[in-house]
Amino acid sequence: MELPFAESWKIKMVEPIHKSTRAEREQWLKEAHNNIFMLKAEQVYIDLCTDSGTGAMSDRQWSAMMLGDESYAGANSFFKFKDAVTQITGFNFVIPTHQGRAAENVLFSYLVKPGNIIPGNAHFDTTKGHIESRKAFAIDITIDEAKDTQLEIPFKGNADPKKLEKILEENRGNVPFIVLTVTNNTVGGQPVSMANIKEISALCHKYGVPVVMDSARFAENAYFIKTREKGYENKTIKEIAKEMFSYADCMTMSAKKDGLVNMGGFIATNKQEWFDGCKAFCIPFEGYLTYGGMNGRDMNALAVGLDENTEFDMLQTRIKQVEYLAQRLDEFGIPYQRPAGGHAIFVDADSVLTHVPKEEFPAQTLTCELYLEAGIRACEIGYLLADRDPVTRQNRFNGLDLLRLCIPRRVYTNNHMDVIAVALKNVYDRRETITRGLEITWEAELMRHFTVQLKRLG
Ligand SMILES: *Cc1c(COP(=O)(O)O)cnc(C)c1O
Repeated sequence: MELPFAESWKIKMVEPIHKSTRAEREQWLKEAHNNIFMLKAEQVYIDLCTDSGTGAMSDRQWSAMMLGDESYAGANSFFKFKDAVTQITGFNFVIPTHQGRAAENVLFSYLVKPGNIIPGNAHFDTTKGHIESRKAFAIDITIDEAKDTQLEIPFKGNADPKKLEKILEENRGNVPFIVLTVTNNTVGGQPVSMANIKEISALCHKYGVPVVMDSARFAENAYFIKTREKGYENKTIKEIAKEMFSYADCMTMSAKKDGLVNMGGFIATNKQEWFDGCKAFCIPFEGYLTYGGMNGRDMNALAVGLDENTEFDMLQTRIKQVEYLAQRLDEFGIPYQRPAGGHAIFVDADSVLTHVPKEEFPAQTLTCELYLEAGIRACEIGYLLADRDPVTRQNRFNGLDLLRLCIPRRVYTNNHMDVIAVALKNVYDRRETITRGLEITWEAELMRHFTVQLKRLG
């Protein structure tokens, strides 16, 4: 008999978590104005809010932290971290920052001018924010297939070369770079194929436009290339990652994802000119060039994290867990963005809560229902997150309305996945009785989902 699959690690340290009663959760959610970001973490049983900075570090990472060199300039920890980045990416110039959006801030302060056009396969919200706040335009060039949640294709995160070429042709001289996000977070943690990376890169270079890789989940993307793309089955994750980066001119990184640390980020490139340009913004915003917002011990942990997370076993354990949750949802007939993404499952709330009108935020309603059911904190990636149109101030109801179940790295077991699936099934089974949603009572002008206050209707 073939042995079943199991995790590629064992547990050395644990953190207790606590269940609560439905009455307690009713009270807490009310106090949090039906916004899960305003809950206290101790009021949560299983936390699927994000996979960003929420992973568990290994014994190797924790022991590396003890060797942190906290020198202001030229710390040994910086060189360890820089060497790890160079080895994995092939980029020789490395600028540390405190997280991914800080890397964007430094790079874009140097590169983005008002009126610029910056195409990308669904820019992440902070990336888009950093482009739009500089009065430039982020244009989505993701393939149209990504919008059909039930369509199963292996590389649903791909960029569309036809859409890109049209933009490059019509905006010569006004596209400072494009952003290729791997995996494509916004459309559900869907991967980009090597063939697509190659084609998009060649197209950009034909027009003299550099490629910036938003690399938060580059290792998960490499895993999907290895397991789904012909010709890569016998290559290592490190070989695949190196090839991916060979088609890019620069990368920004949120190390809180595939770096396996709780805080950190960086920019890496081989372009001397960009490196020099970024230095001028790193120093005032982030700090001196050999720490840029990170402690020496954090850079040490990151060097080890990058090495560990570019090993096949680690990635297989993670992605199989996400797939396991997806299989459980399949048993119950719960619709989600198919196939399962690398870091999360995105449940199609619009087709679950069919009686709740768009104006009453079905995905946010489902998020609240799941919390009330079992103390599970997921998050809305839908109409609240989409904000209002900057000109008309109308809610943007044209995208998808999803509930994201985001899985932290090395934190929960498949028993927790079972609890999540059954809790969601219980909500799903009574979906016909959920006819009213939520109404906004207070909201901020930008990125409202973090602080919005809502009232339950009906
Ligand atoms: C998380 C993320 C960022 C921003 O990184 P932070 O570390 O949260 O600032 C940028 N791009 C992508 C694709 C991300 O997932």
